[in-house]
Amino acid sequence: MKIPKNRKNDYSREAINIRKEFLSEHCGCNIEQLVNSKIDPEITRGNIESIIGFAQVPVGLSGPLQINGEHASGNYYVPLATTEGALISSYTRGAAAISLSGGVNVAVTRDQIQRAPYFVLEDLFKAREFASWIDRNFSRIKEAAEKTTSHGKLKDYSIYTQGRIVYLRLVFTTGDAMGMNMITKASREACRFIARNFPVVEYAIESNMAVDKKPSQINTILGRGKSVTAEVMFSGRVIKRLMRTTAREIDNAYRRQVTGAQLAGVMGSNGHVANGVAALFLACGQDMANLSESCVGYIYTETIGEDLYVSLQMPSLVSGTVGGGVSLPTQRECLEIIGCYGKGKAKKFAEIAAATIMAGEISLAASIVAGDFVTAHEKYGRNRPK
Ligand code: NAP
Repeated sequence: MKIPKNRKNDYSREAINIRKEFLSEHCGCNIEQLVNSKIDPEITRGNIESIIGFAQVPVGLSGPLQINGEHASGNYYVPLATTEGALISSYTRGAAAISLSGGVNVAVTRDQIQRAPYFVLEDLFKAREFASWIDRNFSRIKEAAEKTTSHGKLKDYSIYTQGRIVYLRLVFTTGDAMGMNMITKASREACRFIARNFPVVEYAIESNMAVDKKPSQINTILGRGKSVTAEVMFSGRVIKRLMRTTAREIDNAYRRQVTGAQLAGVMGSNGHVANGVAALFLACGQDMANLSESCVGYIYTETIGEDLYVSLQMPSLVSGTVGGGVSLPTQRECLEIIGCYGKGKAKKFAEIAAATIMAGEISLAASIVAGDFVTAHEKYGRNRPK
């Protein structure tokens, strides 16, 4: 049976009710909570099809968190959407440790996003000739791509050849948008221009070398979205008072965990970067599938006297403050809480994300060494003993 559609307006409340009835007949379920949202379904046009309502996820507030960034500077309260008890408390505790230690320094070190078409040539000799043709004609390819967008800029490329196939990684900047729609259109024009001017056997707009929505070595090394790094000099006194442990104990635990991660083949080495990224992305209307590359993160620790220096590097945080799902009502409100809705805010959002992740990392590390990892979940989480 096909899902019913309202040909006149599939985003009306009527259309939703028709699908509600359909589901009731089909599986006997009642989707009252999904359907009865105050949000006007009309505004979801372009974000979803066959809408049946709105998923409602609890959103909590963490902070205050003192951030010393180039785009985010001051004390921030950060909204996090989660169903994991103890998560908000843990991020808030980490934020307190950071703030009492003077704040978290944070900077965006790279900003770029890729599409990677492939081209099939007659043979490997023609493929090599094609690669050097691309080198000579990059400025014309750039011109063709940039005709489709006012914010997207094709700034670079790299070429990988396998026999008669050439993989072309096109590297864009996309203003404040995450940019995948924008650069897909631009890449299509780049491909059309190339195919008109060089005899390719066939091509496709994506080769899976971009790499979108998958963790990968290439993006971990070269960066995708925002590459962002953060550092804190945690005061030993603050660690003792707030977390009942010491800089040395946390440092020892981190080094042992880095080796554990290596033994397990983890990409990155961190405690739970994914928790913070997922909760922030969900609250703020980011594309949740980009979690796969966005949650790669590397932690480095070092004791300096009684204090603990911690740095975090996130090479591929794929996010934006324009476009995609950011204009939906609750998502926009959450972005507004951190002053990150709209134009000129994309780097600020990335800085706040990394700073928030740092709070979660220190809190988890401390709770593991201080022995309150289980008790915190028992106190705040759903697994509380009866
Ligand atoms: P988008 O909403 O498709 O495009 C952003 C739009 O905002 C562009 O039209 C751009 O205009 C405009 N814009 C206005 N002010 C801007 C500013 N300050 N900075 C940047 N752009 C500005 O969003 P997107 O980020 O390109 O794509 C995100 C969406 O793509 C998400 O929903 C994601 O799920 C989806 N997605 C698509 C693909 C795909 O292959 N198509 C893959 C993965 C994800 P100009 O272009 O004229 O500058």
